[in-house]
Amino acid sequence: MKTINPSTHMMIHTSEEFTQCVPANFPHFLERSSKLIRRILQDMGQWSDNMAHEKLLLRLSFNLVEKFIEYCPSQLPCRPLLLLDGYISKYFGRPQEHKAPSTSNQLMYRFLDGLLNRAVISRDALIGLFYHLYGLRPREVRILLGIEEEQMQRIYKNFRRWKQKGWYLAMEEADLTENEIKHLHNSQIKHPEIFNTQARENLEILLPFYRKSDPPHYPCLTKTKWREVFTEGYGYDYKMWHLPLCLTCLHEVAGFGDDFCLPTDLRLNLHISPYSVNEEEVSFQQFKRSKIRGTCTTQRHHVHSRLQVA
Ligand SMILES: [Zn+2]
Ligand SMILES: [Zn+2]
Repeated sequence: MKTINPSTHMMIHTSEEFTQCVPANFPHFLERSSKLIRRILQDMGQWSDNMAHEKLLLRLSFNLVEKFIEYCPSQLPCRPLLLLDGYISKYFGRPQEHKAPSTSNQLMYRFLDGLLNRAVISRDALIGLFYHLYGLRPREVRILLGIEEEQMQRIYKNFRRWKQKGWYLAMEEADLTENEIKHLHNSQIKHPEIFNTQARENLEILLPFYRKSDPPHYPCLTKTKWREVFTEGYGYDYKMWHLPLCLTCLHEVAGFGDDFCLPTDLRLNLHISPYSVNEEEVSFQQFKRSKIRGTCTTQRHHVHSRLQVA
């Protein structure tokens, strides 16, 4: 019997293809699931680099792939590797099922569901959410998260990878066609207020499900506590995990505005397409870093002038 070598977007249609692809490549599926589980546990703060965790990971991964092999034939046609990713993130608290509000924009629901589904397993997607939901550009994300100038390249990298690959993967998993995405764009242009209201309604339904994948020790904070986090400049992971997935806390933080060099108009402002990193801005940034240690004010003005050009 010939074996099919699975690639990420490869589609299988028949049970014969399934047999040639999935059980025949058990080690490949095992490796992929182990990687993903390790990353999820790391993100949840439940991972330690030791033998006991490695063994546990192997056992868990083995069990999940076995179960997946029973489950997969019922999902044909499918892309088995992507289906595996979804199967595993579901196991770690992704909602089994949730219904879109019947009166609201179904396309938008699927769009947001697709974004959020990736955000709980991918850092690129999580960082990308700051732009998709609030329109924050890389430099503004850096300021919000309190990352050193020197680390700016990491954020650019997240944004670039998300635009090149992650976003497409999310749209594909949400089963959104190019036409449907165009349709979403048009409805935003035609009725921006309605569009924004629908975005909020959908997020209010979706976010609580996805917040289940928050590390358990990252609950909502009071405004006073958030102010403390910003004043003392800690909580990078906390901000990165919690703020894109919590409208309430983001709203509290938005109120700080200029106190912490945050945009003063920080609010829900849905963007459908991923942000394009301006390469000129990146090189200017590197140049500037070697010249000046910018204060908060000069950084802000740089952001503003760039935004006007864009
Ligand atoms: Zn919160
Ligand atoms: Zn300014």
